Amino acid sequence: MRERILAIDQGTTSSRAIVHDLQGRSVATAQREFEQHYPHSGWVEHEPADLWQTTLAVGREALERSEADGGEVLALGITNQRETTIVWDRQTGEPIHRAIVWQDRRTAERCGELKAAGHEAEVSARTGLLIDPYFSATKIDWLLNHVDGARAKAGQLAFGTVDSWLIWNLTGGRVHATDATNAARTMLFNIHTQDWDDELLSLFGVPRTLLPEVLDCADDFGMTDPGGFGRALPIRGVAGDQHAAVVGQTCFTPGMIKSTYGTGCFALMNTGETPVASSNRLLTTMAYRIGGRPTYALEGAIFVAGATIQWLRDGLGLIDAAAESEEHARQARPDHGTYLVPAFTGLGAPYWEPDVRGAIFGLTRNTGVPELAAAALEAVCYQTHDLAVAMARDADAQLGTLRVDGGMVVNDWLLQRLADLVGLVVERPREIETTALGASYLAGLGHGIWTSLDQVQDQWALDRRVEPSIEKAERESRVRGWQDAVRRLTHD
Ligand code: ADP
Repeated sequence: MRERILAIDQGTTSSRAIVHDLQGRSVATAQREFEQHYPHSGWVEHEPADLWQTTLAVGREALERSEADGGEVLALGITNQRETTIVWDRQTGEPIHRAIVWQDRRTAERCGELKAAGHEAEVSARTGLLIDPYFSATKIDWLLNHVDGARAKAGQLAFGTVDSWLIWNLTGGRVHATDATNAARTMLFNIHTQDWDDELLSLFGVPRTLLPEVLDCADDFGMTDPGGFGRALPIRGVAGDQHAAVVGQTCFTPGMIKSTYGTGCFALMNTGETPVASSNRLLTTMAYRIGGRPTYALEGAIFVAGATIQWLRDGLGLIDAAAESEEHARQARPDHGTYLVPAFTGLGAPYWEPDVRGAIFGLTRNTGVPELAAAALEAVCYQTHDLAVAMARDADAQLGTLRVDGGMVVNDWLLQRLADLVGLVVERPREIETTALGASYLAGLGHGIWTSLDQVQDQWALDRRVEPSIEKAERESRVRGWQDAVRRLTHD
């Protein structure tokens, strides 16, 4: 019998299921997209039934494929889009409204009021977050205030991020639970006490009765109802997507960074058992919680990463496919001096300048498509450099290896440039779907397939390792050029 683990990866645009063997190789996958709803400018919603039904469908499909060659799934892990907020009726299991997605800005005004009233320092000290519509707390408050009768019957309602919603449905309404990483993104969870925080619940107007039980990432989340996957499977691992990627990349040592390069980029650095408060507008968050022991991380986000390459392709029509960016960049003059600041929607950490817009600097008659492609890819490297510097300063630590994943990192030119411009060794694993892999690792730990993080660590397999190949002086001069470009935008 071939023993395996099923990972559900419920993302912002699609639900995916991947079956892994016990060596961490993906042996069966299935994916389904679902509809995005934009009822007003800045509002983004998902139909909770779509999240559940697509999850069920891809889970069944992947299980079927895995069984075709005699695989037996032992346990189930879940990873999910974070912060997205669902409130449902405990009796009927019916949501009272569509899910409010993490990108949704409808509570910006409420967040502005809370900041103006001087609450940010306190919220930040307890949660590690900055007050922003992104996180669940003000979304829950909005639902209770805007759905007819919701606040009056709050005692009958349940709140969950997408993991909780799926666990509730998978267990036939028997389990209302979440894990510490998802809890840490609600802005209601005190990352120091590892419990929901009464002061925050009262500040954001959220009754405690609404909230799920918070478990470890590798824990007993109940058995699935046999009606779902045709058999009862133990749910043993849960983590928000970026946290699952930390586990999938086995970044278990303080100083190790995982950076995921998709449409945007999220970098998390393990800071060990110490929650490090940031002086550089990074977020303090959970890396994972296993065996009751919280491990913390610093997190930084780059809003636009692979999206710059999409823009070269779809906006400018300079390339036909994302992969062509690599061939072009290889042709660029090494000293091209072109800087592209892709602030299409402002700049994320460590700048937090939502209102600046992008620009290209250093154009000459010699600037061609190769130079623009190189500058677009280098922008991701410079932004990673800025995050890495902020992380090193905040944690007062030497940075370790940069482990990368996501759709962009198939690009070998980008990998070398990252190592050169960030000044760190960059490693690309054999399995670049690290988010789902992390969910499987957690489920394996929760089910006792592996008994320590060291055993999981041994699973990590390298595809490519790149050392910095330029001198420090050259790196510093290029980084100065980038920072000059950013300054010209942010100080105008
Ligand atoms: P997401 O999960 O955010 O949808 P993915 O991890 O699938 O994103 O990555 C897709 C992104 O990677 C796209 O923005 C695309 O432009 C970029 N990308 C894909 N292939 C390459 C490549 N060879 N070089 C650079 N960027 C690439």
